[in-house]
Amino acid sequence: MRTMISGPDTTSDERAGGVRHSVVVVGGGFGGLQAVRKLRHEPVGITLIDRRNFHLFQPLLYQVATGALSPGEIAAPLRGVFKRDQNVRVVLGAVTGFDLAGRCVLVDGLPNVSETCAIPYDSLVVAAGSNYSYFDHDEWRPLAPDVKSLESALEVRRRILTAFEAAEVEPDVERRAAWLTFVVVGGGPTGVELAGQIAEIARDTLRRDFRTIDTRAARIPLVEVADRVLPGFPPRLSARAARALERLGVSPLARPRRAADHRAGDPADDLGAGRSRCAGRASAGRGRVAVGVEPCPRRAQAGRVPDSFEHDECMPRLRLSSFGWVVAGRLAPPGDSLTARPAVRSNSGPVSLPC
Ligand SMILES: Cc1cc2nc3c(=O)[nH]c(=O)nc-3n(C[C@H](O)[C@H](O)[C@H](O)COP(=O)(O)OP(=O)(O)OC[C@H]3O[C@@H](n4cnc5c(N)ncnc54)[C@H](O)[C@@H]3O)c2cc1C
Repeated sequence: MRTMISGPDTTSDERAGGVRHSVVVVGGGFGGLQAVRKLRHEPVGITLIDRRNFHLFQPLLYQVATGALSPGEIAAPLRGVFKRDQNVRVVLGAVTGFDLAGRCVLVDGLPNVSETCAIPYDSLVVAAGSNYSYFDHDEWRPLAPDVKSLESALEVRRRILTAFEAAEVEPDVERRAAWLTFVVVGGGPTGVELAGQIAEIARDTLRRDFRTIDTRAARIPLVEVADRVLPGFPPRLSARAARALERLGVSPLARPRRAADHRAGDPADDLGAGRSRCAGRASAGRGRVAVGVEPCPRRAQAGRVPDSFEHDECMPRLRLSSFGWVVAGRLAPPGDSLTARPAVRSNSGPVSLPC
């Protein structure tokens, strides 16, 4: 059974004798927040649905993961953000699907009811973000928590700090060195930032806090399957980043471009070949923590975008289709089709949003 939930200030609209156009925005991240901010001065009622009641500033998550910032410094309550906007309502709940034909968003996990609720819309904005990618190695997930939510960033922080604690009391030299080895997988911006930050806490922040170990001895291999870190940037910037990382004490391990430069057992090689040697080593329980991978938006989106959402309705054009929805933010897929057009054309629903 579905409970129907009405939009914000419907009653005052009804009293005024009109029915306000109702916009439902799924996701209070960068995309969703921008959508609400742009629409809030329009004559519409907006319902912002998120499974968290705060906006998370993800670019600084790695600072939380390394203890440089506390969670409260990068999270802003959504209700606080929109407290002056009477036509904006925040709903805490997990969107599980869409009934496109019935123009409803299906929501589970509302704090007051156990059944699925339906929130009707005239226009729908879906900005539910992306999933973390483990490069087709989901078995790495327990070894290397993502740096995408507050909870997982805190888990990464716990593992990093615990590794230093373990090294401090570890008498065996080899095992101590293993505790002090932090493997970062993925040399994109997040991996580079994270590796640099781990190096900084090892070289600087924790330097005087331990008595047995020299935290500056920490090894931080940064494994990248491409032939350079930051492969999405011009080679000149990649080279500068690699030099800066090395100065900090990070060892960038990119896959050599020339066969002559190849070293046997190069971890980046294994990553490219789809083997999990790096994560496997980390799992050997010797204190190496494999943390941080690059998001892979397309795969993530494949799991998130409802089947009947069409790419040509997405950003950057931000065009509302005749079905009244738009996909925004990181969820908006850039490339080829993941979708089943007939499902939209025939207006058949409901469709689901796996999370
Ligand atoms: C560690 C890290 C560092 C980054 N650094 C940078 C940087 O330096 N510069 C930069 O430009 N970008 C950076 N990014 C990327 C940037 O944060 C994302 O591109 C951006 O957050 C995407 O915005 P979004 O609105 O699409 O999704 P998100 O910000 O992920 O927001 C999605 C929202 O939807 C909610 N949601 C998801 N599913 C559901 C559901 N089923 N029901 C209800 N709510 C749901 C989530 O709770 C979340 O609040 C970084 C990302 C990370 C993880």
